[in-house]
Amino acid sequence: MTSREDIPMILKFELNQQELAALSLTEGEEVLYAVPYDCDLSGKYVKNGFTVVTNKRLVLLQNAVKEKEYDLSAYDAVKAEPRINCGVLYAVKDGQDYLIVRYSAKHLARYAYVARGIALLKSGSTERAESEEYEKTCFVCGRALPGTKDCPHCNRKSRGVFFQIVQLLGSYKKQLIPIIALMVTRAIIGLFSPELQKYLVDEILYSGEKKYLAAMLVLVAMFLVGIGIALVDIGKSYGCAKLGSTIGKDLRSKLYNKIQMLSLSYIHEKRPGALMNRIMHDTGRIRMFMEHVFCNMFTVVIMFVAVVIYMLVLNWKLALISFIFVPIAAVVSMLWRKNIHRRFRLQGKKSDDVHSALQDVISGMNVVKGYGKEQDESDKFNGFSDVFANVQTKNEVFWAMFFPLLNFLMGAGVYLVIFYGGRSVLGETMTAGEVMQFVSYTSMLYMYLGWINNLPRQLMDLVTSMERINDIMTQEPKIRNTEKACKPEITGAIEFKNATFGYHSYEPVVEGVNLKVKPGEMIGFVGASGAGKSTLINLIMHLYDVDDGELIVDGENIKDIDIDYYHSKIGVVLQETFLFSGTIFNNIRYAKPDATEEEVIMAAKMANAHDFITRMPDGYNTYVGEKGSRLSGGERQRIAIARAILNNPKILILDEATASLDTESEYLIQTALERLTSGKTTFAIAHRLSTLKNADRLVVIDKHRIAEMGSHDELMASKGIYYGLVTAQLEMQAKKEEATA
Ligand code: ADP
Repeated sequence: MTSREDIPMILKFELNQQELAALSLTEGEEVLYAVPYDCDLSGKYVKNGFTVVTNKRLVLLQNAVKEKEYDLSAYDAVKAEPRINCGVLYAVKDGQDYLIVRYSAKHLARYAYVARGIALLKSGSTERAESEEYEKTCFVCGRALPGTKDCPHCNRKSRGVFFQIVQLLGSYKKQLIPIIALMVTRAIIGLFSPELQKYLVDEILYSGEKKYLAAMLVLVAMFLVGIGIALVDIGKSYGCAKLGSTIGKDLRSKLYNKIQMLSLSYIHEKRPGALMNRIMHDTGRIRMFMEHVFCNMFTVVIMFVAVVIYMLVLNWKLALISFIFVPIAAVVSMLWRKNIHRRFRLQGKKSDDVHSALQDVISGMNVVKGYGKEQDESDKFNGFSDVFANVQTKNEVFWAMFFPLLNFLMGAGVYLVIFYGGRSVLGETMTAGEVMQFVSYTSMLYMYLGWINNLPRQLMDLVTSMERINDIMTQEPKIRNTEKACKPEITGAIEFKNATFGYHSYEPVVEGVNLKVKPGEMIGFVGASGAGKSTLINLIMHLYDVDDGELIVDGENIKDIDIDYYHSKIGVVLQETFLFSGTIFNNIRYAKPDATEEEVIMAAKMANAHDFITRMPDGYNTYVGEKGSRLSGGERQRIAIARAILNNPKILILDEATASLDTESEYLIQTALERLTSGKTTFAIAHRLSTLKNADRLVVIDKHRIAEMGSHDELMASKGIYYGLVTAQLEMQAKKEEATA
């Protein structure tokens, strides 16, 4: 079976004979890339369009007819650029842009790779552009995938998922065996009870004698069977509930651990709310399945088969009459099953949307309130909630229509048995007890059939949840230790070598960065907002890998350095300090869990935090609240500095560490930072450029590239971008002071 992981993004679609003929390839000419386009230049949807790149030219095909061709050597470059809901590929010549082709947003990444391929071709390289991404649309039907790797329409992996569920259960054999034994016992006792009914009617009530004692004994036996059934059911439910909770708990922790391991890019792509939904809701569904469905599964299946055999043996003619509606019910449920799966997947996706919106708003509540956007956010949330409710209602209505229809078919089977059985009693070919027993078995048969018919929905629910869980479990973190992973001594020597990186393959955020930093040097990144300063820091922190070029740390490619080891050498102080709910003591100790009390207090003193901590009634045991909400911004910052000092990092990241603080806090923090940074390679970003004056070198980022580099004085003297930024800030400050004077 082909899995989604096997289908990397296709950059060379297969062309048919007519399309190849339309290309009329010359000798030595070879098709390198062939990708679809689905818009004309004005943005209208078109079908059967292909952009073909050979080693000599670029050709546009439409319905197997050559529309246009471009000699690639006549242009300086070919670029792919995202626009609103679409993208364009254009050629550049003498500073002038020439639009080549337009395509919908689903092909953005594909064309970015093609543009990269053309650049390689033009540089004379024989290398081909290859994509590390996977198709975001279904390989079979072309529909967009709803956040899972498998297409709900093509539904190609259900069987594989069933196998995984069996495998999952297999790892809980110890708990499973007693449950299955109880299910089998329950089936045997259940089958036995109609026998007692028959005996009571034929041998006692209709015998013509007054068999009081025998009647009492049968009633006691029936009572005991009832108690037996209840006890077995209790045992079975207890076992299933315990097993369900254990599986749910294990899956939750596996998922949680996996998510911690995954790269930031995946977590950003999936949205925190959606991930939380998968951890809580989908694992919960698996637990529910174990408790409510699996618990009866074996009993029902065994009893269904046994009842069918038993009825055939007792009276095959009457049995066949009672079975008349079974195939009809089976066909109806089979026809509806496919539909159910698709519907429940969609419901899962809409539920993700609701959770995401909720998570967003709750975590950003201060911003929502600050801007008075409560109503807007309510409307937005209600929008998602409405869509979810609509999908859910439609699904329930669909189900509600389906189930009564089946119930009717099942009831009809019992009526037929009563009708033909009654005639047999009158004709004296059957006893009243036999008919009663038969009616009991027929009711059982249809009850179990009803249950079995409900099973596809429950199973599809389970499969959908399992798929959503698998989707995360089968992800490989993009940042992971290679076989060569090493632990070199980190002194803080860092070098960017022609490094290029973008969060999306088609949108480089930093390009061709060359920067060599000596151990202990302090570098200030400067540039307009969105220039790529934090992105460079993300690369230094190895949260992402560069797409092209290299990042070298102490002579080793950062990709080959053990990740945990490297992270233990980095300290971070951000503008928005993240504190975990817990005590101040534990928050400082977060970076070094084995730190002693003395070490923590020493770090707090160096961070100018000791005084304010000891002024609090609970001192170091003060609870900081969720995300440190009970502390001021300056206090949180100093705790973060203490945390970084304790870790004694070799590389330090200060991202807007002194932004939005009052003057007193800023002074305390500045002096704490000076202690922290001495002798460490430091990368700092600050909006207020005056705070970067201490930096050994300032690196100015503009238009994705390093535009200027040097000390404050050198950059001021050269009167370039930095000079412009500083003077603009000084002017603004002067205006502010004038206004407040
Ligand atoms: P700066 O720190 O200079 O303000 P950033 O490095 O944060 O800039 O961002 C540079 C560009 O990258 C911006 O256009 C921003 O929108 C984009 N960007 C930042 N983070 C992400 C992300 N996780 N996913 C996609 N784009 C991002």
